Amino acid sequence: MDICIVGGGPAGLMAALWAAKNGSRVTVLEQNDRPGKKLLVTGNGKCNITNTDQDIRHYHGGDPLFAEVVLQRFTAQKTIGFFTKLGIFTKNRNGWIYPYCEQAQAVLKLLEDEARRRKVRIKTREHVTGVDRFEKGFTVHTEGWQYPADRIILCGGGPASSVQGSSADTMELAARLGHSIVPPLPALVPLRGRGKAYSQWAGVRMDGMVTLYINDKECRREMGEIQFTEYGVSGIPVFQVSIDAIRAVQKGHHVLLTLDLLPEFTDDELEAFLADRKDARRGLTDQELFVGLLPDKMIRVITGKSPRTPEAYAKLLKAYPVPVKGAHSLERAQVCSGGVSLSEVNPMTMESRLVPGLYFAGEILDVCGDCGGYNLQWAWSTGALAGRAASHRDNS
Ligand SMILES: Cc1cc2nc3c(=O)[nH]c(=O)nc-3n(C[C@H](O)[C@H](O)[C@H](O)COP(=O)(O)OP(=O)(O)OC[C@H]3O[C@@H](n4cnc5c(N)ncnc54)[C@H](O)[C@@H]3O)c2cc1C
Repeated sequence: MDICIVGGGPAGLMAALWAAKNGSRVTVLEQNDRPGKKLLVTGNGKCNITNTDQDIRHYHGGDPLFAEVVLQRFTAQKTIGFFTKLGIFTKNRNGWIYPYCEQAQAVLKLLEDEARRRKVRIKTREHVTGVDRFEKGFTVHTEGWQYPADRIILCGGGPASSVQGSSADTMELAARLGHSIVPPLPALVPLRGRGKAYSQWAGVRMDGMVTLYINDKECRREMGEIQFTEYGVSGIPVFQVSIDAIRAVQKGHHVLLTLDLLPEFTDDELEAFLADRKDARRGLTDQELFVGLLPDKMIRVITGKSPRTPEAYAKLLKAYPVPVKGAHSLERAQVCSGGVSLSEVNPMTMESRLVPGLYFAGEILDVCGDCGGYNLQWAWSTGALAGRAASHRDNS
């Protein structure tokens, strides 16, 4: 059986290893000069492989049940076991799993070594431009060659990030083969605030709570380090809420973040604390009231306009409003939401329900995960299922 895999990212490499296990001839076509370029930048180069908390709420897309079926068939524990067998000891940081050496390049090297050992052909600088479908099998076209295949697995990822090779190309190939595509949008991305000038707080980092409201309804809360930027806000808690925020902005909904800048205090405690401080030191200016509590830049932002009562300051610090205008950019997004519509794919095998012999894995599908190893887990799970199923003769 000849299996052709389009895209040599984490999903494509995983699919190749599982397809080759069953004795198929496997070819990976990768447009870059080497596979796995995006894998190298994951987790700031440390590669957050997966997460031990696999609650399905960490995955987003058109059909939560689809993701659940996939992730039960190839679990995070299986991923850890798989990498341990390849030679990667893992490190657990509050559930976030990394290779012990904290080097993404080690993960890529072991995947490539294993691919070589299983005789997978990895053809680089091969940009796939089209796929012809016949009664039995396919021809995959690149700019300079044609590859006949009994089965193909599309693993070309999506257009997010500035990493070379990120594009919606393979989603378009899927569309040309008859699949519906949920339009890709940036996810896990810094957010732009509406209206105000944000330059005053640029460069500040503070631990806080981000709450997302869509049309005045609270949708999600995330704790962590908020990074304040000249256009709005960034940081992991912002990334986590960005998936829903961007889809809601796209639909024209009113999207608001509120930032709790002092989550250790309740509203009442903060009001009392500020009132006591004012009483104890008569003549304290509003700016002086916050010295030791907030970074200088943030003091200027909070006390900027007219003086406020301790109650008003407490309210502002517990729910600083940032109306959301949109994403910073697709280039600054770690992943995209959207992709091949899940209703047209079998979650047991990742095979197309429309085109027998066509499979999908990774970010190309309409699933995106939270920050924390969920997107790579999605790539490993779908890659393993697609590779395994595609290499079974009696499959479809
Ligand atoms: C900065 C950053 C940090 C991240 N950190 C993490 C993290 O720590 N943990 C985590 O879980 N996730 C992380 N992610 C997300 C993760 O990298 C992706 O979810 C994952 O790479 C998706 O894998 P994939 O194989 O589906 O797609 P990709 O990794 O995008 O691979 C697709 C491959 O297909 C190739 N390709 C595309 N079109 C064609 C074509 N027409 N012909 C030939 N080849 C083609 C591309 O060149 C690419 O190599 C991060 C992403 C970024 C940008």
